[in-house]
Amino acid sequence: MGEKRRRNAYFLRAIRDLFRFMPFLLWGKLTASVVEGILQVWLPVLTAEIFELAPQLNDVNTSIFRRKIMLLCICVAFPALCSVTLRAVGLYGDCRKEKCYGWNMYGYARRLRLEALEEPKVLDRFRKADAAYSRHLAASRMFSYLLMDLEAALVCISTFFVVGSFSAWLLPGAVCSVLPHLFLDILSEKRRSNTYRGQSGKRRRLKYLWRLFCTKEPVKEMRTMGFEDYLKEKWVASNVEVVKEMEELELRAMRLSAVGVLVKNGCYVANVAIALLLMLRGELAVGQFAACLTAFGLLQDNLFMLSTFVVRFVQSCHHVEEYYAFFYTETEETGTAAYRPFAREITLRDVHFRYPGAGQDALDGVNLTVGKGERVAVVGVNGSGKTTLSKVLTGVYHASSGSVCFDEQNVAEIRREELYRDISLVQQDFVHYNFSLRENICVSDFSRREDEKRIREVAGIVGIQELVQGIGGLDSQLGREFGGSELSGGEWQKVAIARGLFKDSTLIVLDEPASALDPLVEYEILTGFLNMIQGKTSVIISHRVGICRHADKVVVMKDGKVAECGSHEQLKNAGGEYARIWNEQAKWYL
Ligand code: ADP
Repeated sequence: MGEKRRRNAYFLRAIRDLFRFMPFLLWGKLTASVVEGILQVWLPVLTAEIFELAPQLNDVNTSIFRRKIMLLCICVAFPALCSVTLRAVGLYGDCRKEKCYGWNMYGYARRLRLEALEEPKVLDRFRKADAAYSRHLAASRMFSYLLMDLEAALVCISTFFVVGSFSAWLLPGAVCSVLPHLFLDILSEKRRSNTYRGQSGKRRRLKYLWRLFCTKEPVKEMRTMGFEDYLKEKWVASNVEVVKEMEELELRAMRLSAVGVLVKNGCYVANVAIALLLMLRGELAVGQFAACLTAFGLLQDNLFMLSTFVVRFVQSCHHVEEYYAFFYTETEETGTAAYRPFAREITLRDVHFRYPGAGQDALDGVNLTVGKGERVAVVGVNGSGKTTLSKVLTGVYHASSGSVCFDEQNVAEIRREELYRDISLVQQDFVHYNFSLRENICVSDFSRREDEKRIREVAGIVGIQELVQGIGGLDSQLGREFGGSELSGGEWQKVAIARGLFKDSTLIVLDEPASALDPLVEYEILTGFLNMIQGKTSVIISHRVGICRHADKVVVMKDGKVAECGSHEQLKNAGGEYARIWNEQAKWYL
């Protein structure tokens, strides 16, 4: 899609969503804007009529005079009344907007391919959309400015005719007073947005550095390791660069704006002089002179507002673009076939996988069979492809080529949601949820959150019974951030394993489940785990080979390929890569 067409599509989508999310509020605003616009134009006309009528009041025209005064009051009061009502309704609208736009975005994010989240471009879009949503509520602002523009334009056009009806001599001054301002402001805004776009990489870096100063772990590390000043200088240098560009930009914008203001005021003075001259020459009555000045002031103010709102409208359109661009990110191609738990095996045939933007495959022709109920240990040096294998095996990442089949069914054809429901994956970078301990364990199968027996069972395997008592029970809050108990790295890891075990799935995959635990605890947990999952298919990824003795099959990964595959005894005796790693680690642990 071309750039222009894409922008139009974003704009139309924004308007459609607004009417979908808040139809009453929007129709109300639209109607109020049009009525306000009409009333504002009527104001100078009424003023002129009242000035004309006032000196000649008699029995006949007093009631007309009163009616005109009432209409004048309505013209003045209606906009004030509208603004109070709409502000109150607007507050309700803001809450609703926040919910609608948030869910709209999250609903889409849920459908993204998970490997797309490894792509910097996609992450960038995600962050921008999030900022547009959370800080600017982009579309509604854009619509508000659009309405303000509409109202101001309506007033300008009609007041233009009203001013012209008093004297055509007043029109050039009216136009010249504001057009330069409108033009110069739009020019400044264009420069501003170009500079912002050009700075997007630098600003991202700046934000990243700032986040380091505001996040617990980096703060601790930078202070204890003594590189706080280094990072500060790095941040200051990036900041200076960005701020300098912005200063130059704003200085130029200020100069241009000052020219606009000078021209505006000059034209106003000139028009007052013209109107005065016309009055002295008897071409304008006193009432017309006053109405003429009111209309001219109205025209100038509204032309001025028009230019300001056009600029803000253009600004908010950029945020709208950033929000809606996210909805054009490629989504996950979920299969259409129903998921059937596999009865025999999972088979990988010549599977290749490459991360977006990477120069080479992370999996380079993997062939592997995992039998039903088999306990498989995957070992290998860092970067050999173990984590990637676990994600491709579970259908989280799509193989770039080759096939992953659950029995005969290709994983690509299975409906994702159903597949994920039957898989438990404890990732290396698991999440610390600042919820209660019960929630931390049971989120993987929340329907069973009251199953105390099951919770106790998994807590026993991962060895957190004492922890449960120590923090005051399963329903105690975790995480200092919300006033709860903080756990050690190892304890969080145990909770993550408990979460994986709690889910009653056919396949369970643990990626480096015990990297933060000492070898003795690791051994206990993993043997307890293997006992508990008797009959379940399990894949354990570990850089420590001790667990391999208890596995039915050991897979050794090297350079994205399966280097060796067999039982612990077979591989140990084969004298290859596995035997080398085993002997290396035996010096430390065995
Ligand atoms: P292991 O789990 O054995 O340490 P991984 O599966 O994490 O290895 O990584 C395999 C290869 O893929 C490595 O060369 C790594 O650099 C690369 N890789 C991992 N994650 C990404 C990513 N998000 N983007 C690009 N390359 C990646």
